[in-house]
Amino acid sequence: MPLIYLDHASTTPCDPRVFEAMRPFFFEQGGNPASPHQSGRWARRAVEEARETLAGFIEAQGTEIIFTGGASESNNQAVFSTAAGLKGRGRHIVASAIEHHSVLEPLRRLKREGFEVSLIKPRADGITAYEDIKSVLRTDTILVCLVHANNEIGTLQPVEATGRLCRERGIHFLVDATQTVGHIPVNVKDISCDFLSLSAHKFYGPKGVGALYVRQGIECSALILGGDQERGRRAGTLNTAGIAGLGQALKLCGEEMSTEASRESDLRDRVIDVVLKEIPAAILNGHRNKRLPNNAHFCFDGVNGEELVSALDMAGVAVSMGSACTWGRLEPSHVLKALGLDDRMALGSLRVTVGRRTTSEDIEYFLKQLKLKAEKLRS
Ligand code: PMP
Repeated sequence: MPLIYLDHASTTPCDPRVFEAMRPFFFEQGGNPASPHQSGRWARRAVEEARETLAGFIEAQGTEIIFTGGASESNNQAVFSTAAGLKGRGRHIVASAIEHHSVLEPLRRLKREGFEVSLIKPRADGITAYEDIKSVLRTDTILVCLVHANNEIGTLQPVEATGRLCRERGIHFLVDATQTVGHIPVNVKDISCDFLSLSAHKFYGPKGVGALYVRQGIECSALILGGDQERGRRAGTLNTAGIAGLGQALKLCGEEMSTEASRESDLRDRVIDVVLKEIPAAILNGHRNKRLPNNAHFCFDGVNGEELVSALDMAGVAVSMGSACTWGRLEPSHVLKALGLDDRMALGSLRVTVGRRTTSEDIEYFLKQLKLKAEKLRS
């Protein structure tokens, strides 16, 4: 039985070429990048090279990059640092209702501390409308948070227009680009953001390492205290191997992104076409085209999503209902609820995300199994 991995939105397998770039920092060049000796200098050089690669990739400056333990940490830092730094100016924050929990949970905490949070629901196509964001901005709004592409339904959000608006109004703008970096072009200048977060394991790099872009001149206080690393904005010994891996992963994405995006979107389109044509009572969630090249997300009326994911797992296919971060919660996803789906429909969800190693044979096998399992579970 083949193991077919169609859950790349949850995480991507580390590319062997990335692992090779990381290997020396475990065994041969194991110095601390903050150390003054040769071993430290090697490590420091690797970190700075990766910083320049990332900065070049998103059109930022090296000094605008903070390496973190992943996008959850980056999002937490951007939100809490802005709230602490700007609370004298205002206490109103705006976010889309389909942000990742690493944005929503910090906002919940801030609400308990007296901040006011406006959550904007997406329209029926899974896109948060720019006009809806604009209509709630106030003179005391200090931060807008908008995910670049939602991690469940894959829809692309209007970050450029929102960024321009925030810049005009002097409002800080956080873009969670965890699902887009390495998959489609991401340029902090075009987006006009003040913060941008990302995680290496979403683009074939290692898990547990990410970054936060902080625009030059924007205050960003540390979330983790206890050392001067990252210009005092993130304490802790740098994860040299992980950071080198992040840099290498981005280099590969830079070389392969455009051909890979078009190959993946063909596979995605095949999945969408067959599911909508051949599986009864199936709906596609999110806009047909304004979505990630690798994401197809459905609801099947009358099918339990958890049972479907398990049945496909038994058949050797790894897919998910939505976010891995909330698996086991037994509640319908906040994203599908924000879309207006009822609980019955939302609990019948399935996310299929293809990747670098997915072939059309994999997709045909998956589709065959999906038809069989959905029919069986429905009866
Ligand atoms: N934001 C988005 C949009 C994500 O998809 C994820 C990962 N599911 C995160 C943030 C958090 O990333 P990490 O788990 O690497 O911290």
